Amino acid sequence: MAIATVNPATGETLKTFDPLGDAELEERIERARRAYHTHRTTGFGRRADLLCRAADLLEEEREDIARTMTTEMGKTLTASRAEVAKCVKAMRWYARNAEGLLADEEPAAPDVEDSGANRAFVRYRPLGVILAVMPWNFPLWQVIRFAAPALMAGNVGLLKHASNVPQTALYLEDLFHRAGYPNGCFQTLLIGSGAVERILRDPRVAAATLTGSEPAGRAVASVAGDEVKRTVLELGGSDPFVVMSSADVEKAAATAVTARVQNNGQSCIAAKRFIVHTDVYDAFCSRFTEAMAALTVGDPMAESTDVGPLSSERGRADLEELVEDARVRGADVLCGGRRPEGLPDGWYYEPTVLAHVTPEMRIHHEEAFGPVASLYRVSGVDQAIEVANDTPFGLSSNVWTRSPEEQRRFVRDLEAGAVYVNGMTASHPALPFGGIKRSGYGRELAGHGIREFCNATTVWFG
Ligand code: NDP
Repeated sequence: MAIATVNPATGETLKTFDPLGDAELEERIERARRAYHTHRTTGFGRRADLLCRAADLLEEEREDIARTMTTEMGKTLTASRAEVAKCVKAMRWYARNAEGLLADEEPAAPDVEDSGANRAFVRYRPLGVILAVMPWNFPLWQVIRFAAPALMAGNVGLLKHASNVPQTALYLEDLFHRAGYPNGCFQTLLIGSGAVERILRDPRVAAATLTGSEPAGRAVASVAGDEVKRTVLELGGSDPFVVMSSADVEKAAATAVTARVQNNGQSCIAAKRFIVHTDVYDAFCSRFTEAMAALTVGDPMAESTDVGPLSSERGRADLEELVEDARVRGADVLCGGRRPEGLPDGWYYEPTVLAHVTPEMRIHHEEAFGPVASLYRVSGVDQAIEVANDTPFGLSSNVWTRSPEEQRRFVRDLEAGAVYVNGMTASHPALPFGGIKRSGYGRELAGHGIREFCNATTVWFG
């Protein structure tokens, strides 16, 4: 895949970039190694100052970087601005909280004594140079979600960003540099995915994190496994959005639209499968379909646009194939199911609702990475849980019910990294984020996230 900015709203190639050569790559890995040796010994106060400075700069530059993101991957400008704000918040959160999250942990006195120690504790020390392989869908947030905790812990970062967001990737390196981070603490590597293995096998690189598709995750985790290096994988999702009969149907339907079409439908934690109790199915279905059909699809730079183009021609073709497969196998297309008319040559697709989705259809098992919703009708909590769990993925889940007993069942039985009750999934720096099953492993954000790339060191004094 060429490293280039191609505007998804027009299909026009705006800028291309040469990948780094071998010598440059070697130089950058070595620079990261050297930077780690000093960065790891700096105190939390200094690291927090640097991260806050980067957050301040990012906040000041919000409009410019938001426009760059929209130009590179097609999310609405409104969504890009919100993404910048979210990054600033997470940076400040980690600047404030990292020291506490990584404070020494002392076992209870009787256990210390029982171990034969006068004193014993666990200290969270950094691991080293971390490689981050990141996707284009939240081109700033996915990186900051890794970088803010990693840098606060004393690690340094090498970013291999998706090939279609090179300007956002270069901006990130420049941002950390201008904030005052020593040379090599955070570097962007303009490389294709073929160069990842070599970096991962380099003994100077300690671990890797990847957000993206399952094949990419498998490739990186295989090499890391071979090298016995730690990985965090945040892969796809096909999150259920369950609506039970006691739910506030109007609110659930309105939230369902946002949950499905956020980021033009290209979010791992977007709700994708809407599992609705038969008592409220018709009421939910009509409200939801009407609202999906009423969304404005168009130029992502326009304030009035709800849904912009998909990020690539391939992405739209994949989505079209999924919808076609469902249609041929008997799904009803309640709205959308085609490219909108009257728009320029971008990769647009209409918000789409499919009913009567069955396990024979690809969309039942695969991630629909675009504004396409699948509807299921169920007759009770057992069936709702069965359908919700009938997926290879397990990232997050959403349930709408006012019944405490049903809430308890969903929290106990849904196979996912998160259960959001009477709301939609949205990540927050204080809450761990990540999945199970084919959605990956490990956690980002909160204390769990910052400790993923730490060496939990047992310190024992006799
Ligand atoms: P990819 O998984 O291919 O890309 C994500 C990152 O991984 C990019 O930096 C990419 O680099 C890199 N990469 C890809 N293949 C390899 C490999 N074999 N070894 C090392 N690095 C690799 O995502 P796509 O853009 O192709 O999207 C395809 C599907 O993935 C989507 O339809 C969606 O289902 C899922 N996805 C999920 C995301 C999430 O948030 N969980 C985000 C993006 C996609 P390069 O760009 O150079 O290929």
